Amino acid sequence: MSDIIQLLPDHVANQIAAGEVVQRPASVVKELLENAIDANATEIKLIIKDAGKTLVQVIDNGKGMSVTDARLSFERHATSKIQAAEDLFQLNTKGFRGEALASIAAIAHVELKTKQGEDDLGTTIVIEGSEVKSQEVTVTPTGTSVSVKHLFFNIPARRNFLKSDTVELRHITDEFHRVALAHPNIGFSFYHNGSDLFNVPQENYRQRVVHIFGTKTNEKLVPVEEETEVLKISGFVGKPTFSKKTKSEQFFFVNQRFIKSPYLNHAIKSAFEGLLKDGYHPSYFLNLTVDPKSIDINIHPTKTEIKFDDEHTLYAILRSAVKHSLGQFNIAPVLDFEHQSSLNTPYNYKDKSAATPAIEVDRNYNPFSDDSAGKPQSVSRNTGFKSEPAASWESLYVGLESKGNTAQSDFSEVTFESDSKNESIFSDSSIETKKSTFQLQQKYIVSTLKSGMLIIDQNKAHQRVLYENFLKHITVKEATSQQLLFPLQLHFTPNETKIIEDLKTDLEHTGFVFSELNTKEIIITGVPVGVPESEVSIILEQLISDVENDLPETNFSAADLLAKSMAKSLAIKNGQSLSSTEQEHMVNSLFACKEPNVSPTNRPTFITMAVDDIEKKFM
Ligand code: ADP
Ligand code: MG
Repeated sequence: MSDIIQLLPDHVANQIAAGEVVQRPASVVKELLENAIDANATEIKLIIKDAGKTLVQVIDNGKGMSVTDARLSFERHATSKIQAAEDLFQLNTKGFRGEALASIAAIAHVELKTKQGEDDLGTTIVIEGSEVKSQEVTVTPTGTSVSVKHLFFNIPARRNFLKSDTVELRHITDEFHRVALAHPNIGFSFYHNGSDLFNVPQENYRQRVVHIFGTKTNEKLVPVEEETEVLKISGFVGKPTFSKKTKSEQFFFVNQRFIKSPYLNHAIKSAFEGLLKDGYHPSYFLNLTVDPKSIDINIHPTKTEIKFDDEHTLYAILRSAVKHSLGQFNIAPVLDFEHQSSLNTPYNYKDKSAATPAIEVDRNYNPFSDDSAGKPQSVSRNTGFKSEPAASWESLYVGLESKGNTAQSDFSEVTFESDSKNESIFSDSSIETKKSTFQLQQKYIVSTLKSGMLIIDQNKAHQRVLYENFLKHITVKEATSQQLLFPLQLHFTPNETKIIEDLKTDLEHTGFVFSELNTKEIIITGVPVGVPESEVSIILEQLISDVENDLPETNFSAADLLAKSMAKSLAIKNGQSLSSTEQEHMVNSLFACKEPNVSPTNRPTFITMAVDDIEKKFM
């Protein structure tokens, strides 16, 4: 038979890629604004017509492009921002995929005008549906202007899919707010159908927040400043009396990138504990700065999720910094501040000056080791892992108990390619009496194998265990529920409530019991066994955010998404220390899984290193 595989022509590939990058006019706005920022612009102008359906234009005074670069910028995977794969781990730019311009040009009419500072003349390029219509020398100011007209002109289905102008403009405004808030040192203006919606000069952060959210905002801002080895926090939280019924004023920026994190959001909520009325949400505008190496920016262009190396520690620092600010500015009664200084975490407050407390990490301090005086309890959140005795920890694994008692029997089901001849791959030293595992950087569980070494990623492994457990409950429809002493009342927006409603049956199969579920309130009277009450709102918020993030084209299976989302919320985080019993239990539970080697999101849960490989390293 003749060969049948062909490479897709570029314009088709670009159109497919465009589906991922460009979902609506707001996506174009985001990409163009980010390019302008990456070009070191200090003034950026956004011009929109008909909610972006007719025109999205961004004009910047950045560094511009050479004639060749201008043409190249529309090629797929053409980027000036990374040279090698390693660069991905220390990103200081917004873009890096080199896909945005190629994608946009595949599904719209694009005109690019650009000039570099040292040149007298610039370039204009016109591209329609990936086809270059013209490239000419032009007179144009230094910087770049990109106008995108007739979005989706060649994909009517997507064009029809766009919402009303009001809705699309709201998406654009949200995107604009995020970018403008993250970059107060850049001046922005924003015009819609000829009228001027925003015009903000270069300014400080407080001024920027006030410019965007209105003069009244000024009096409600409480500064939050904290600098530790791993994390710098700066920005504001809103005074509790100004809290809102919506979450419209909640902004986290990590290295100047807007992100959503139900988990870190919870850190703030818990810092406000006792200060907010039921159903109200704190406002916050917080900039977190971390080492770019310690985060994994989701490779997917439209997602706002980010993965931290050590989320657990960030949670503790963030919560404490916000609590401190609320206390210092006399908003909260001094709360449990004495308690705070011993903060149940591996941190020492070295410098206790009231103004800018600095936290330093004492890597040797392990609050959970037996010899630490007055054993402190778990930090912040309770996943049923740390503060609870092993018995409750185990309750998270109902249905997953190992059949045998020793590690050996569970592990015997695993076959590693390198080790087919052995019925048990564990070295003899894994007999109970000896310590067979240890934790590395509160992130990995290391164990020995007959053939070498096993390194498990605790977070990913636990996600796998929980995922299979939840999936089983959802499909078998037989979960056990634990009744809450006091029903839990939660409030969500109508859209969010709709998402929960759609998943209600599946949620009930995991063990949730709802007594009310309508747009006014959600009342929960029962939760899955092993899920602490304090986690419930995180789980639901994470779930909503996961559903919202799930793109229309992905194969949506509600049960799968729910199981993944709950596993993500409840899995122990990196940075959490585990006792030896907990470590061993984790190992056993992982290898009792159907698919132990990958996380629910298809990342490896463990790696092995054969003795041979170790030996080679010593040669
Ligand atoms: P990415 O931003 O991921 O690199 P894009 O497709 O958005 O990919 O842009 C491709 C390249 O075009 C960028 O790497 C940059 O070199 C150049 N570019 C795009 N927009 C601008 C701009 N406004 N000013 C200067 N250069 C730009
Ligand atoms: Mg870009």
